[in-house]
Amino acid sequence: MNRRAFLSLLSAAAQAQSPARVAFSFDDFAWSDIPRLTPDEAMDAYLRPLAKRDLKATLFVCGRHVKGERGMELLKRWGDAGHLIGNHTFSHRSYHAGGSTPDAFAEDIERGQAVIENLPGFRKIFRFPQLKEGDTKIKRDACRAFLRKRGYRTGHVTIDASDWFYDQHLRARLAADGPIDLARYREAYLNHLWDRAIYYDVLSRKVLGRSIPHVLLLHYNYSNALLLDSIAEMFAERGWGLIGTEEAFTDPVYSRQPDIVPAGESLVWALGKESGRFASELRYPGEDGEYEKDKVEALGL
Ligand SMILES: [Zn+2]
Repeated sequence: MNRRAFLSLLSAAAQAQSPARVAFSFDDFAWSDIPRLTPDEAMDAYLRPLAKRDLKATLFVCGRHVKGERGMELLKRWGDAGHLIGNHTFSHRSYHAGGSTPDAFAEDIERGQAVIENLPGFRKIFRFPQLKEGDTKIKRDACRAFLRKRGYRTGHVTIDASDWFYDQHLRARLAADGPIDLARYREAYLNHLWDRAIYYDVLSRKVLGRSIPHVLLLHYNYSNALLLDSIAEMFAERGWGLIGTEEAFTDPVYSRQPDIVPAGESLVWALGKESGRFASELRYPGEDGEYEKDKVEALGL
């Protein structure tokens, strides 16, 4: 083997071994829906574990969830702490079949921006509701062109997980005043996030030949207010590096625009799909409550 081949083999081996990294992003700032905590306590529950680790995260906001001055005050706290705020449309209406047309979707993006654009930390980063980027090529490309024209980048996710489904379950228990074993819930929820993180990291190594700096999608909800510190600790203890979302987004992979229809899902999923090489490993949708229902019920959460 010549020296160049040897060095490239060595570098491939190093890539395969390189520790994974993850950044946090939160969707759907539905601050008024969080039970048992005041809005400020919930915000503290997010800011504290991030500050402790000197991490910067991104919150994707739907204008309709801001709900006036109180929501703006909370978002100012988020932005003043050095975190970023991205656009998630005004209404959270889907861009897939039965959802918005390209024009209506563009208007929804503009309307969402108008609510949040003067906040500290606002950036032109756009995250698609439910990670659905258009169910036809015409819709997909119309929105890509619109975002480009308006100076937006897509706020891609690489690790998707149905955290919202676990949270729904927990909140239903709370509402019914049923017994809650939080330790059990915590264990099951962390296991679920870990399982999804490993799946997408392995997929990244197969599809791209390396572990890309991941962006984890979580929601601004009760479960993550309770458990964000544990989630960060889990990743760190298991050898993952924790990074800021802005840092993750500097990786060139985040400029990729996979040529698939329907478009969307995790970026790693979409690139796998585009390659045509991993069809049997890519369920559709990538994540959904349907996949978790039986597990959550069997655990009696
Ligand atoms: Zn959302």
